[in-house]
Amino acid sequence: MSAGDLSGRRALVTGAASGIGRACAVRLVEEGAAVVAVDQDADGLAELAKTVDVEQSVVDLSQLNDVDRLDLAVDIVVNNAGLQHVAPIQEFPPDRFSYILRVMLEAPFRIVRGALGHMYAGGWGRVVNISSVHGMVASPYKAAYVAAKHGLEGLSKVIALEGADHGVTSNCVNPAYVRTPLVENQIASQAKAHGITEDEVIERIMLERAALKRLIEPDEVASFVAYLCSDAASSITGSSMRMDGGWTAH
Ligand code: NAD
Repeated sequence: MSAGDLSGRRALVTGAASGIGRACAVRLVEEGAAVVAVDQDADGLAELAKTVDVEQSVVDLSQLNDVDRLDLAVDIVVNNAGLQHVAPIQEFPPDRFSYILRVMLEAPFRIVRGALGHMYAGGWGRVVNISSVHGMVASPYKAAYVAAKHGLEGLSKVIALEGADHGVTSNCVNPAYVRTPLVENQIASQAKAHGITEDEVIERIMLERAALKRLIEPDEVASFVAYLCSDAASSITGSSMRMDGGWTAH
């Protein structure tokens, strides 16, 4: 895929201040798209804007009325913003469950709901949902995250079915552990807790289930997202694309 394939397209990326979202925003700009970078982290967005030319939109995606006020005249939506909370169900705070569902499932619904009119009018659109291996399988203590990602999988398929006649595709990307600030913090704290090195945390704990014993880089996910946004990927829709180093192969 050559740079500039997305020139003339306007893309909205949520969670663009950090990690995977940031890498996607940079990559889509490199491909020629005009990018609206959405996040609640104003400093992170300002930092991103020093690297590439993006429109910054500071929004807390749990505030659904604010989500509805976004300018959604966009051709590409990358639903990426997310967060984790680890607790057994009996101790899982209901408010936290609800918050995670709003950010990771309801906000994507509102954003796509608002953007489809523009996409349908142009006869072209791309929705890429950053799901996870946890959109396909569960792990204990991650009730809200697993529920939200499984919900996102369903939403993505419905968008694919409704959008097909309008040139709109919708897909999920399903990574295992990606080297982002979120994961790097977990590595450091687990190394301390278990009294082992950071490399041992990655190999023995995080990548125990994966065939490839290395973290995925955010740029790898961004490249996949850029491909799904290209015209070459126009037949790929309603799919969930595993990028998990063999995590779900057994
Ligand atoms: P990250 O913490 O580096 O970035 C997440 C971004 O989302 C942050 O900039 C944060 O400010 C933003 N965000 C969170 N809550 C928000 C809210 N209420 N309103 C607006 N912005 C909000 O995380 P990441 O690892 O890059 O994760 C991005 C996505 O990728 C998430 O959906 C996550 O579930 C998914 N994912 C990550 C991994 C991984 O290993 N890192 C693996 C699979 C899937």
